[in-house]
Amino acid sequence: MSEQFQDRRRALLELHVHLEGSLAPELLRALAERYGQPGVPAACLTPDGSRYLPVAGFAQFLERYKAVVSLLRTPRDYHEAALGLGAALAGQGVIYAEVTVGYGVMHRQGVAVAPVQFALHEAAAQVAQERGVRLLWQADAVRQWGVDAAWKALEAALRCGPGLGVVAFGVGGDETALPAGDFAPLLAAAAREGFGTTLHAGETGGAGSVREAVLAGARRIGHATSAGAAPEVLALMAAAGVFAELCPGSNVATGAVAWFEEHPLRAFLEAGVPCCLNTDDPALFGLSLRGEYDRAREGLGLLEAEERRMQLQALAACSAPMDMRADIGDRLVAD
Ligand SMILES: [Zn+2]
Repeated sequence: MSEQFQDRRRALLELHVHLEGSLAPELLRALAERYGQPGVPAACLTPDGSRYLPVAGFAQFLERYKAVVSLLRTPRDYHEAALGLGAALAGQGVIYAEVTVGYGVMHRQGVAVAPVQFALHEAAAQVAQERGVRLLWQADAVRQWGVDAAWKALEAALRCGPGLGVVAFGVGGDETALPAGDFAPLLAAAAREGFGTTLHAGETGGAGSVREAVLAGARRIGHATSAGAAPEVLALMAAAGVFAELCPGSNVATGAVAWFEEHPLRAFLEAGVPCCLNTDDPALFGLSLRGEYDRAREGLGLLEAEERRMQLQALAACSAPMDMRADIGDRLVAD
């Protein structure tokens, strides 16, 4: 077996992947048919329906996201989405993923959260049994919809809790809409309940946005890209042990970085910030996690030892319960 082939089979962990952004084109088409909404795939997919169209900037991405999410309406829809994601992850060697689910979006669309979470938990059990991939869930609020809506999302997440696989809370959306500090009491409340905490920052906002997110108490930062050019923010993250969920391919797709080779991965590694690579919205952007690591090897000089260390750092930063963490650790070491 060649060394390259062994590399490609290596076990990976993913901490930043949105369920809604992982809907395969086939499932999007099926949902559109289910709900009589042919305009959604017509606007989102290539004419042959085989993949998503590229987005022109972050604003258009948010519009695209909204259109896709509008077709997720019932526990069955979410269950199918989770099975699809599980299959896609298994095909890339991913053994654990903490999957972000839009609780804020469900509230706004009038979808009852608990039955959906029950369906997701059932799907995760099926994925674990059939594919050996462990899925846990991060409930997500939307920054621009405000603090009150985010509290509602957190309360729903706490009601579901680890019994239904919910282990973390995050705030995504438009990081420039409201200061991160407004969400500090929520992050503290989530942490008190044993949840992991993540804020999206440094994707469309500057390094100051990442700094604010760290000071607001987030234990992980989604993207953190702009901190790569700010040594003092990297030093703050390293000193505070705040984890960076880097998403280079996504950043290229939304225009946050001009091209893959411009992503500041190496600055994070050299500053000692714990981090891993992630796909963010793999179906929407046509990405795979294995592909992201391969591109980082080729374009950003990522070394095999660094890739391995990132998996261990992701394990340390994940929100899985201890028994699952030990199991994942054993599989990483055996790999
Ligand atoms: Zn994201």
